[in-house]
Amino acid sequence: MIVKKSTWPSWHCPGHRKPLEDKGDVLLCPDGDQFPSRNRIPRFVTNGNYADAFGPEAKRYRLTQLDSYSGTTITRDRARQCVGEELWSQLSGKQVLEAGCGAGRFTEILLGRGACVTSIDITKAVDSNQENFLRSESHRVAQADIEHLPFAPQGFDIVFCLGVIQNTSSPEKSVSCLYEQVRPGGTLIIDHSTHSLSWYSKTAPLFRRLFRRLPPEESIKWTEKIVDLLLPLHKMVRNFHSAQMLLSRVSPVVCYYRAFPELNDQLQREWALLDTHQSLTAWYRHARTRGRIRRTLEQLGLQEIWCEYGGNGVEARGKRPLS
Ligand SMILES: [Zn+2]
Repeated sequence: MIVKKSTWPSWHCPGHRKPLEDKGDVLLCPDGDQFPSRNRIPRFVTNGNYADAFGPEAKRYRLTQLDSYSGTTITRDRARQCVGEELWSQLSGKQVLEAGCGAGRFTEILLGRGACVTSIDITKAVDSNQENFLRSESHRVAQADIEHLPFAPQGFDIVFCLGVIQNTSSPEKSVSCLYEQVRPGGTLIIDHSTHSLSWYSKTAPLFRRLFRRLPPEESIKWTEKIVDLLLPLHKMVRNFHSAQMLLSRVSPVVCYYRAFPELNDQLQREWALLDTHQSLTAWYRHARTRGRIRRTLEQLGLQEIWCEYGGNGVEARGKRPLS
């Protein structure tokens, strides 16, 4: 299928909301703002933000969670569950805004379904994303903030944001900004972490206080030490619920031996490294109930809302009314 470039929603100044003039290595706002394009990726944020640690992490674990690398369908299954069967079969040719793309575990799935994907991330993870999935007629990347998106409102058929919103400064504001990009009749697809017993009992908050002060290279190194020390214990107790509960009170390691037993030991280690690092360096780490997410969507005016516990917490989608 041939997709013309002109179908992309055009870049707009996040501040003035005016269309930008593309000068090759810089995008110009008529009101004077300039946005550089480095590595052929437009940059709408300056470095030095709350999510900085995610950039080096995405580089270090550029392939880890891609289905094509793990040989599983874990990412595909999660995406499909959130997208819903009806839309899943209609993704081809759709203009999708993928917010918080990281190295691209979901980019791979969306491109595989034939969607035209605009992948944005607030961090330098965009470089890893573009390395994994080259710029094409159906894929482009930008470094941008969910709360200051570089588009005119209501330009996308689908706005897709999984595994991200709990790490932004205000989940409700993020959802509102994402929804603003959905065209009439289009769909917003999100998920959010929820409260769980381990949420309160883990030692992670203590580690987090230390880790957030370290440069990412250092925190990655320390995460490796902790994971290599504790992951074998997690493996040992994976079939014993009470031992698991006990271990999770003292160990900050995020472990997938129970959730995804199909991953081999090497992949278990890589997934544990990536998600433990993410957990210990996240500046914000919100939790929301299903009811709260549903209310947020209702208040914004979404229709045909689907909102359930599942996946990494709460999964939800809904549509913007046609009129
Ligand atoms: Zn401007």
